[in-house]
Amino acid sequence: MKVENMQAGQGLDLPVRNQLFIGGRFVDAESGETLPTLNPHDNSVITEVAMAGPADVDKAIKAARAALPKWSRMAAMDRGHLLLKLADAIDAHAEELARLESLDTGHPLRDTLALDAPRTAVTFRYFGGMADKLEGTVIPVEEGFLNYMLREPVGIVGQVVPWNFPLMFTSWKMGPALAAGNCVVLKPAELTPLTTLRIAELMSEVGFPDGVVNIVPGLGSVAGQYLAEHEEVAKIAFTGSTATGKRIVQASSGNLKKLQLELGGKGANIVFGDANLDAAVNGAAYAIFHNQGQACIAGSRLVLHESIADEFLERFIKLAGSLRVGDPLNLDTEMGPLTSRQQRDRVLSYCDVAREEGGQILLGGKAPADPALADGCYVEPTVVVADPASRVSQEEVFGPFVTVTRFSTDEQALAIANGTQYGLGGGLWTRDLQRAHKFAQSMKSGMVWINCYKRVNPASPFGGVGMSGYGREMGFEAMREYTQVKSVWVNVDANMRPYYAR
Ligand code: NAP
Ligand code: MG
Repeated sequence: MKVENMQAGQGLDLPVRNQLFIGGRFVDAESGETLPTLNPHDNSVITEVAMAGPADVDKAIKAARAALPKWSRMAAMDRGHLLLKLADAIDAHAEELARLESLDTGHPLRDTLALDAPRTAVTFRYFGGMADKLEGTVIPVEEGFLNYMLREPVGIVGQVVPWNFPLMFTSWKMGPALAAGNCVVLKPAELTPLTTLRIAELMSEVGFPDGVVNIVPGLGSVAGQYLAEHEEVAKIAFTGSTATGKRIVQASSGNLKKLQLELGGKGANIVFGDANLDAAVNGAAYAIFHNQGQACIAGSRLVLHESIADEFLERFIKLAGSLRVGDPLNLDTEMGPLTSRQQRDRVLSYCDVAREEGGQILLGGKAPADPALADGCYVEPTVVVADPASRVSQEEVFGPFVTVTRFSTDEQALAIANGTQYGLGGGLWTRDLQRAHKFAQSMKSGMVWINCYKRVNPASPFGGVGMSGYGREMGFEAMREYTQVKSVWVNVDANMRPYYAR
């Protein structure tokens, strides 16, 4: 089906897939049930998408099981070649994918064109190149023996992803899993299945064998939970909230699944007195307002040295207040709607919490007054002065909502930065080299950005500590996560004395 000219003048003419993708074919759910996916700009229905239940997940696992022997033993170079062809196909369809992503998520088109679509291709390409680079090792053991290590795929991998970067997450999740020789059953977020289904179609077109990848849109509590419990699934790679991550740990215990959990975050962004303020103001705005703050690595806590706090805030608020909020499909738009009504309401409820806690709202704290945006999921860029121990400074809001705290000593800054249950990403802005590296070592965080924020690259490990989860995506680390090690012993001494000498 096609979505034709959804909005006059936008020239939208997008191929939209709205069924499950199982065994290389698009099929309806066994139950015939569907779920609508909405355009968060106005909450209109884009299409009804088939909703997978346990019977459909079983079918997807059966298809993956049938595909696994051939796929896992295929020459790694050939698997890599298919991923490279997929990356080229994504580049060729970049504009279409970017538009579909913006339509389904509310992410501004200027970003999906410049970042999401090309980064998806780049990440698949990186793992395509990686497929035949994952070598085993010969281990120096005692004389008379050769000991070597094989890295083998884990088998059928279940992948469960959220709605904030659905297109990019196809490559983060499937790139390394497929390069390493696993077969995949992926459940997209119920809110945003469209680009994932289109990627599956492109995979089929470039020649991925049937069953290697299966996509089962549906409810997390049903299809996701069933996948996490399934005895034939060897691993779950999950990105989402810490609460769901805990449920997956429990669900996975039946067959002791391997787990990789990319969970929530509450990133501190520390600005020291000696920082380049132009760069810090701009970087801090990107850190929280890009994708409407719906990023696990968002810089959602500004920690400002008292010597520059006033000037920084004046400039930061001026910039935040000037962001062009509106229809994500308009190329001028810098901030779109949140991805769902539920998420908008959640962010607005945190604005109320901030007020109740005695926080001072310096900017925003409400939906925009523009009547053209009244039906959408919009929230204004919001800046709140809050105590580091307050709920809004401790809990992940996942929206264009940043808290501000002041500090006077480095020790205070570090204590504030490390003072949450999370540990995903954090940043600092300073010209002092020693301090920068000292903080990089001392921050309780899987990633640290110095004089930048939210840098991500397919070669660089991505993941968290503490309640932000465990395991790493990207780079060689991701390939290790999607393989298991086998140690092989060979007796190379024909005359070796037997253990029981007779
Ligand atoms: P979520 O509620 O945990 O959902 C994530 C995914 O899990 C969705 O596909 C969801 O299905 C599914 N799910 C829900 N319950 C499940 C269950 N019992 N068993 C299996 N799967 C289940 O998270 P969200 O609110 O959509 O996403 C935002 C969260 O993701 C934030 O906390 C954010 O920090 C985190 N995140 C982390 C990273 C990272 O790399 N660390 C990156 C991006 C986002 P439904 O679609 O039906 O809900
Ligand atoms: Mg949608």
